[in-house]
Amino acid sequence: MERVCAVFGGSRGIGEAVARLMAQRGYRLAIVARNLQGARAVAGDLGGDHLALSCDVAKEQDVQRTFEEIEKNLGPVDFLVNAAGINRDSLLVRTSTEDMLCQLQTNLLGSMLTCKAAVKTMIKQQGGSIVNIGSVVGLKGNPGQSVYSASKGGLVGFSRALAKEVAGKKIRVNVVAPGFVHTDMTKDLKEEHLTSRIPLGRFGDPLDVAHAVLFLLESPYITGHVLAVDGGLQLTM
Ligand code: NDP
Repeated sequence: MERVCAVFGGSRGIGEAVARLMAQRGYRLAIVARNLQGARAVAGDLGGDHLALSCDVAKEQDVQRTFEEIEKNLGPVDFLVNAAGINRDSLLVRTSTEDMLCQLQTNLLGSMLTCKAAVKTMIKQQGGSIVNIGSVVGLKGNPGQSVYSASKGGLVGFSRALAKEVAGKKIRVNVVAPGFVHTDMTKDLKEEHLTSRIPLGRFGDPLDVAHAVLFLLESPYITGHVLAVDGGLQLTM
C-alpha cells in the first residue's frame, strides 16, 4: 500500500519541493497550508490521489480536524513533515509581543501540535517518521532574528526529546536545518551580500532541502538527528 505523508507548509517553497519529490516516489500526500487555493494548486499539479487542506498549525482544533480529514480520505499518516513557518525579522528591541507570539505559535507550537496528533496515529500504526524543518540560525543565532532563532532552537530541543519519548514505539523524529534557500521567505534578502558567507557560494534550492528531508524520513536507523543543509554556512557563523 502507498504510504501517506502530511506536508504542513506544502503549498510553497521547501514544503512544496518536499511534496513534489515525495509524489514522484509514490507517496500519497496531504498538502496543508492556511491558503487552500495554494495547497490545491500544488495537489492538482501533482496529479494522482493527493489531498489539499486548509489549516493554521497554531490552532489545535484546526490541526485535529486536519488529521481526521487525512485519515478519512487517505488513511493514517505514516510520515509527517513540518515545513510551515514564518519570520518577522527585526532587532529584539523593535519586536512587538504580537510578532514574538506569532513566530513562536507557528514555528514551535504549530510543530508541537502536529507532532502530537501524528504521534497518536503512529503509535496505533506501530511506527512512523517525522521531519521538522528548523534553521541554522536556531543552532547558531543571528542578529535581527532572535525570536525566530528561539523558535527554531526550541524545535531542536523539542524534536530530540520527542525522539527519545517515542523511539520505543518505532517512531523517528529528526530535524533538517536549512541555511539560505530561494523561497518567498528570502525573496527580499540582498543575496549578493550573503553568498560570500556561504562556503559553497550560493543560496540553496528548495529541492536541495527536499532530498535531505526524504533521506531522513526514510532512514530506518536515524533518530534525534539535526542535519544542516546550508552550503556550509554554519561553519562560518
Ligand atoms: P515559504 O514562505 O515559502 O512557505 C511557507 C509555507 O508555510 C507556506 O506553505 C505557507 O502557506 C505555510 N504556512 C505559514 N504559516 C502557516 C500556518 N500558520 N499554518 C499552516 N501553514 C502555514 O517558506 P519556506 O519554504 O522558505 O520555509 C519553510 C520552512 O523552512 C519554514 O519553517 C522556515 O522557517 C524554514 N526555513 C527556511 C529557510 C529559507 O531560507 N527559506 C531557511 C531556514 C529555515 P500559507 O501562507 O498558505 O499558510
